[in-house]
Amino acid sequence: MSSVRKKLIAGNWKMNTNRSSAIQLASHVVASSVGSDNANLLICVPAIHLADVSKLVANSKVVLGAQDGHWLESGAFTGELSMSMLKDYQVEYVLVGHSERREMFADDNQRVALKFEAALKNGLTPILCIGETLQQREQSETLNVLISQCEAVVEQVGIQAFENACVAYEPIWAIGTGKTASPEQAQEVHNELRAWFEKQDSTIAAGLQILYGGSMNAGNAKELLSQADIDGGLIGGASLKADDFLDIYSAAG
Ligand code: PEP
Repeated sequence: MSSVRKKLIAGNWKMNTNRSSAIQLASHVVASSVGSDNANLLICVPAIHLADVSKLVANSKVVLGAQDGHWLESGAFTGELSMSMLKDYQVEYVLVGHSERREMFADDNQRVALKFEAALKNGLTPILCIGETLQQREQSETLNVLISQCEAVVEQVGIQAFENACVAYEPIWAIGTGKTASPEQAQEVHNELRAWFEKQDSTIAAGLQILYGGSMNAGNAKELLSQADIDGGLIGGASLKADDFLDIYSAAG
């Protein structure tokens, strides 16, 4: 399937930066990013920096994202943030189901589906993160795992909801390890995933941005991003260095 989809280069800062380094990093990205017809630039910053960074990205080419959000609107959920709170700070995208949240914070498929739904209800674009462990890959379970992660969301919101969403394929064994899936390995999975979406709805499948995540950096981005079914990157470590992140953006064309 050939790609006419715009690419999305998304940084996931995770629990990194302090107030001054977050402002410095965001300012650098904003000042150096030029608009591109081929790619959009997104930074998913720690929630405590949303207020500062939302002011910096206003009227720029950079879009603001959050790393997680609760599925309910309000209530006794100490420490949590609702999607509408994020929306108040000009957040446009939110990660749901990042493997670190699935592994360390008990985000199971059902909870991820509820978060995805809540994001859409509040006018945010969810980025559904999916991925297999090394053991699952070695047992040839990759596609089954990814499909069950997507199915849970489709069951909750319906396939049409993916018109306003993205998927990020992030093999867990490649996250933060320096081990990237080869462009061929990643393309194979992206192509199979798109074929699965195609079975649900061909128009949705053709328009769906499927990002790759897992040790993407300035050196390997061009080859990964040139694959037909890779529509961008979700970038952890390399998004903390403005120049590296901007090089990845340039590699997206
Ligand atoms: C991530 O956490 O989404 C990620 C891809 O991290 P890294 O780029 O550091 O592997």
